[in-house]
Amino acid sequence: MKQKHGADRTDFINTTFYRNIMKQARDIILVLLPDGTILDANQAALEAYGYTSGELCARTVHDLRAPGTRMEVEEQLQQARETGVLFRTFHRRRDGIFFPVEVSSQCVRMESGEALVSIVRDITQTVALEATLAEGEEKFRLLVENLRTGVFMVQRDKFIYVNPSTQRITGFDEAELLTMNFWEIVHPAQRDEVRERGIRRQQGFSELPSYIMHIRRKDGGSKWCEVVVARQKWGGSVTLIGLLHDMTDRLLAEERLAISEKKYRLLAENVGDVIWTVDHTGHITYISPSVQRVHGYAPEELLNRKILDLVAPEFRPLVEERFNALLAGNEQDAKSKMSEFLMLHRNGGRLWVEARINQLKDGDMEAGGLLGIARDITERKRLQEDLVRLATIDELTGAVNRFRFMEMGKQEMERANRYNRPISLMFVDIDHFKQINDTFGHKAGDQTLTWFAGLVRKELRNSDVLGRLGGDEFAVLLPETGLSEAVQVAERIRATLEEQKLPVGENERVALTISAGVASRDKAADSLDDLLKKADAALYRAKRLGRNFVQTDP
Ligand code: GH3
Ligand code: MG
Repeated sequence: MKQKHGADRTDFINTTFYRNIMKQARDIILVLLPDGTILDANQAALEAYGYTSGELCARTVHDLRAPGTRMEVEEQLQQARETGVLFRTFHRRRDGIFFPVEVSSQCVRMESGEALVSIVRDITQTVALEATLAEGEEKFRLLVENLRTGVFMVQRDKFIYVNPSTQRITGFDEAELLTMNFWEIVHPAQRDEVRERGIRRQQGFSELPSYIMHIRRKDGGSKWCEVVVARQKWGGSVTLIGLLHDMTDRLLAEERLAISEKKYRLLAENVGDVIWTVDHTGHITYISPSVQRVHGYAPEELLNRKILDLVAPEFRPLVEERFNALLAGNEQDAKSKMSEFLMLHRNGGRLWVEARINQLKDGDMEAGGLLGIARDITERKRLQEDLVRLATIDELTGAVNRFRFMEMGKQEMERANRYNRPISLMFVDIDHFKQINDTFGHKAGDQTLTWFAGLVRKELRNSDVLGRLGGDEFAVLLPETGLSEAVQVAERIRATLEEQKLPVGENERVALTISAGVASRDKAADSLDDLLKKADAALYRAKRLGRNFVQTDP
């Protein structure tokens, strides 16, 4: 559009009406040509920018703008001419200082052409205030939007605000919730109850500050939430401000825990094993009812007592050591979680248990304790002992077998050597035993061996060891016994047998003799092997001499 210039518009500027406005206005008033040239400025403008009237009227709005805002000027001038414009920008004073302004610019059309009248307001204070408010609101918004708790506001049953957690809990997004009625998220089964609470609160009854509400989710599922509701006048209406705390996971976890605890209790109370837990000081915190049957105690009697009190005294150091290693989380020792030890019965008896002990870790029923599962293995131990006996004892004669005799012989020799004590070894062999078998049968032979062993044992001390080395050959280890004493024992056996004879059938007896070889420990013979050789050589001599003799190795 073609513009006419300059003085043509002074007719407008020079009217009294115009001049009064310019003088009285507290805002800056600038009269511009459509290209931004300043035609006139009021007193407020001169004061705000720090120019004289003459200085200001020689400039354009470009000179008043802060450098970063100049790009927009052409567009704003255009808009002002077409429709009028309201915008915020920064203006520059003569001294270079910028200040925020709000500009309202309108086009005035006159016969002589167009002028733009800009009313400029210094908004330094407003901006500062707004900044403060914005900061406060930002803080509040950040807080509410990041809370894990759902926060919502309801007016006349309609949601007017929902934070992101409310959206997460209900599964509805913000746009959906803001069109929804509050009751839509209350589970139908609970609506009456919630309504009741609302009415009571309205009537001024003090309601519980919070209660558990069943929330209905968009996906058809539901959540258990702790709800806190406050009534508040806000924006002229009664507003409900609500907090939703999702308790579903916790409630489910509690339920699961209750179920699993129930399950474990059921298990603990119905197995034959004794199950116990102790705290880090070893005091019993739980012990299963089976303790009554196994140890003779009622479970209540044992609560808060030390589990070690139930352990046989000689095993306490070992068990305590194991406990401490487990409590300290010592992996190496923890590997040998299974152990066998003797425990006590209320009646003073002792029983073998096999215990599997584990650490109770954080998150279990109790932290920093132990869980033990102990099984009474007394019966098994007895069986084991029987088995060991079977493997080491000769059933026919009750003497230890060759393997066990050698084992014990080595131990006894070591001890005798260490303390320089006398010890003797004796070989005893029945003379012509083969004839017993041949004459009376193998069974009579067996009975002869049993009878003979019994007869020998009567002549021995408890500390002596009788071994059957094979067939009709026996050996006797005589600790704390010198050679002559040992020869006397052998002689006594020989003489007793000679005297008593062997009972065969009813009241019949046949002569039965033995030959024996005796050897004792000395400097030249201080090992079991040495003694065995010497005793064997002595026995050989006795047989060679015609049997029924006791001999030593010269
Ligand atoms: P000697 O005076 O030289 O010792 O003659 P002996 O017949 O006692 O000696 P020998 O070692 O030749 O014979 C031992 C016999 O003992 C041989 C075997 O039949 C018998 N015998 C070995 N073990 C048993 C057993 O467990 N029961 C029975 N009934 N006989 C056995
Ligand atoms: Mg023989």
